[in-house]
Parts: sequence; C-alpha cells; structure tokens
Amino acid sequence: MGKIYIGNEWLSAKSGKEIDCIDPASEEVFARIPAGSAEEIDQAVAAARAAFSGPWRETTGRERAVILRAIAEGIRQNREALAALETRDNGKPLPESFIDVDTIAQIFDMYAGMAEELDARGEEVLEVPGDAMRTTVAYRPIGVIGMITPWNFPLEQFTWKVAPALAAGCCAVVKPSEFTSLSSLEIARIIGAAGLPAGVLNVVTGTGAEAGEALVRHPGVDKISFTGSTITGRHIMKTAAEDLKRVSLELGGKNPVIVFDDVDIEPAVEWVAFGAFVNQGQVCTATSRLLIHEPIAGRFLARLAEVVKAIRIGPGDAEGVKMGPLVSKAQYDKVMGYIEAGKAEGASVLCGGGRAEGFDVGYFVAPTIFVDVTPDMSIWTDEIFGPVLSVMRFEDEAEAVRLANDTPYGLAATVLSADRDRAERVADALEAGITWQNCNNMVVIQAPWGGVKKSGMGRELGRWGLESFLEPKQKTRWLPGGSLDWYQTPVQTAE
Ligand code: NAD
Repeated sequence: MGKIYIGNEWLSAKSGKEIDCIDPASEEVFARIPAGSAEEIDQAVAAARAAFSGPWRETTGRERAVILRAIAEGIRQNREALAALETRDNGKPLPESFIDVDTIAQIFDMYAGMAEELDARGEEVLEVPGDAMRTTVAYRPIGVIGMITPWNFPLEQFTWKVAPALAAGCCAVVKPSEFTSLSSLEIARIIGAAGLPAGVLNVVTGTGAEAGEALVRHPGVDKISFTGSTITGRHIMKTAAEDLKRVSLELGGKNPVIVFDDVDIEPAVEWVAFGAFVNQGQVCTATSRLLIHEPIAGRFLARLAEVVKAIRIGPGDAEGVKMGPLVSKAQYDKVMGYIEAGKAEGASVLCGGGRAEGFDVGYFVAPTIFVDVTPDMSIWTDEIFGPVLSVMRFEDEAEAVRLANDTPYGLAATVLSADRDRAERVADALEAGITWQNCNNMVVIQAPWGGVKKSGMGRELGRWGLESFLEPKQKTRWLPGGSLDWYQTPVQTAE
C-alpha cells in the first residue's frame, strides 16, 4: 500500500525491506510501508536540493499560495478517506481524526496567506544613523529541511512543518513515524496532485535508527525540524551539531493543571478529564499532573472519577467511542509498566489501573487516576504518554506554582480559577511555552507552539512557524556621497 515518495515518484526500498502497519484496535497487519535507509534518504535529499536550486526558490509568495490553497482544497475533498486512514493507523476516535483533517486544511490556508504577506513584506528597510548607508533585510528560505515526526498526531505534525516550510520557499524530506506513516503518504499524493513541482516535497518511510539517523547526518540538509521524545531530540541535536545544522525541537512534557477551590466543579472536571485523556493521553501537552486545592479535593476527585469511568472505550471507528487503543504494543507495554510502577511506589488507584475491561485484543488501557502521589514517584516525574493522571493536593498558590514548576519540562501548563487576577498571575509564574486559563489543551493555530526548559526549542504554528524556515539576510549598501562623520567608533586606517 505505502511507497516512498521521491521527486513525484513512488518507490519501494532498494533493500526490499518493509514495516508492518498494525491496526491497534484489532492488532491486524493491514498494510506495509518500505523500510527506507540511507540510500533512499540520499536520493530524496538530492531531489530536494535539485528542486531548491531550480525555479522553486525564485517563486513568489503568491505563486506558492496558489499551491497551498489547492492542497487545502485537496485535503477537504479527501476528508473522509484521510480521517478513516488516520484512525485505522493510529487508533484515535474518528471524530478526532476529522478535527485533525479540518485543522490541517485551515493550516494550509493560513500559510497561503502568510506566503502572500511575505511578498508584501519584501525587503525591510532599517532605520540606521547617518546618510552613508542603506540597510535592508531580505528573508530567504533556509533550504532543504529534514522533518522528523512522531505518531500521536501524524497529519497535524506533518502539516505544522510542511505548510510553513513550503510557504517560506523551502524544500523538504519528511521521515514520518514508522508506526503511522500512511496519512503522510496520502497527503503527499494530494500535494503532488495540487501541482507542487517534483522534488520540493519528499517522504521517506523507515525507522528512526536507519532513515531518521541518515537524514539528520546528511550534509545536504540545512535544518532538522524534529517533533518527538526528549531523549531522541537530545541525540538529534548532538548529531546535527557535527555540521552545525539548524535544529528546532518540539519535545516532551509533564504538564500540570492547577485547580483552585473557587472553580465551578462540573466544567473544571471536564477540562481536567479532557486534558489528561484526549487522544488516549498521547499528547505532548497532556496535563498529566493534577494539582488540586485541598478544600475541594475530595468532592472534585469523586466527580472526576465518575466522569472518567464513564468514558466510552473502543475501536476508533465505533459509534460514540471517546477513547481508542494506544498506538502500538510498545506504547501499551510502556504505559502498563508505569501503572505497575505507580502501584509499587505506593500510589493509590482512584480509577482504571490496567487493561480496559472487555477487550481481548487491541492495545486498550483504562483511563487511570493515581492519588496519594509524592513528587519523587516516576508517575509524577516521567512523561508516560498514555491515559494516566497523577494527583497531588496543595494548600496555597505558592505551593501550587512550586510543585507545578518542579520538573525539567516546560511545554504547557493550565490553571483553573474563578479569580481572573489569580489565574493571570499563576499563568505568568508557570514555566511553560504554552499556558491555558479556564480551558485546557486548546490548539490555537495562529499562536506560537513550543516549549521552554527540556521541552524543546523553537516554535511552530502562526507566524513563528513561518519564521523558523526563513533566514534573515542583511543587505547594506554604501550610498554615493555618504560620509563617515556620524560613525562613533573611529575607522582604523593604516598609518
Ligand atoms: P520518538 O522520539 O521515539 O520518535 C519520533 C520520531 O523520531 C520518529 O519518526 C522516529 O522514527 C524518529 N527517530 C527515532 N530515533 C531517531 C534517530 N536516532 N534519529 C532520527 N530520528 C529518530 O517519539 P515518539 O514516541 O514517536 O513520539 C512521542 C514523543 O513525541 C513524546 O515525547 C511527545 O511528548 C513528543 N511530542 C512532542 C510534541 C510537541 O509539539 N512538543 C508533539 C507531539 C509529540
């Protein structure tokens, strides 16, 4: 079913090796993708370099916008098929796949607008002292971008990188996660049909150790844009440092949600359950640490447990399902390992605590809440990336902020309080790249997305996403008759 996409052609891996695509709800192999290696990466980078030295580099933003809008339209026309494929490959509930498909069409449209604005921006003229020089700044595409994506939001992560890169005039080689490559290949087909010139976008499927590693090491790549785990991100940054490639890293999180005693319990419970369990908790910004204000802790947790126990679990394409299976056996084993560790470390299970009942096959884990958690437990410190929420209580605002910030991560943080001043104050004090007040895990595509501390560097989405694929170029020109009188530092002349 799957093939590698290079220079508008569909290819198998030269080695003939393939990777199984497993439906996580049934554990059946339903497709195969080529296991690309250094050879295919080399070919893809060559195609991207050739496209970048060709007419693509000279296209105007307006010309690129026409293609980006055609891609958005192609996505809308293939809405059903894309959503169904995403649910089959990743396991997520179908309504959530539809949200992803609709969002990525909006993102291509948004960056079409920004590509046009780049033309309008042109060369920025800077205010410089004196009349001797004219200095402008031109914005140039960085070049060939190696993009490496994870498996939790395959369509979104592909688009968050590809759409702004194309808007900026870059070329790309994408290495999607080996667990969920099919939707990236499907959008590549849509993008080809939208008229993107050959070689501007290439998709090489394969493992991280082979295809991913080869992409990061390739001297023909100007920048690596990576989304994935902190451990892989650190390795990629070290490798990329060899030839000083630019890197942007969207990494993990262990995100807090702080709930104060003045909240309206019912909506607050909904926001907490959503932030912890949407996409089976496999979300980089999942708020998997709940800090609950002591005065309402008992009432709040009792209601939360009721709501979470009622979450309908099942295959992503079944009617009314709110939680699907985890993406893979490896992820299932990892999450179950943390649940066992939580029990062994002395935390108490408020609900869930193992495999979801009623399923003989599929990687289904019951949404799990741990109470009696202490800050040294692995379920409190580690990113589990599954449906596991750990709870601690706090007495006052200062303690809540201290506990929330006591983590090496800094991706997202949420505060729920009826007191707007307090919510604002706490949001400002939280060490995170993204904060939410009285809502949770809302993705605003116009806003910067990314983390501080060990959650990464750089930002995606909005205009920040576009800038990350542009290189500002200074152009200073001496003007006829200009004098140096204004210049503060004396110009050195040979005696
Ligand atoms: P991962 O790091 O295991 O894999 C991510 C990608 O990197 C995959 O495509 C994989 O094949 C590739 N890879 C692995 N080893 C590599 C290597 N040596 N060289 C090059 N590429 C390599 O992560 P995952 O399990 O796929 O995804 C889950 C992680 O992603 C979580 O930590 C999550 O927080 C993070 N994530 C972050 C964001 C964000 O925006 N900050 C968004 C989604 C996911």
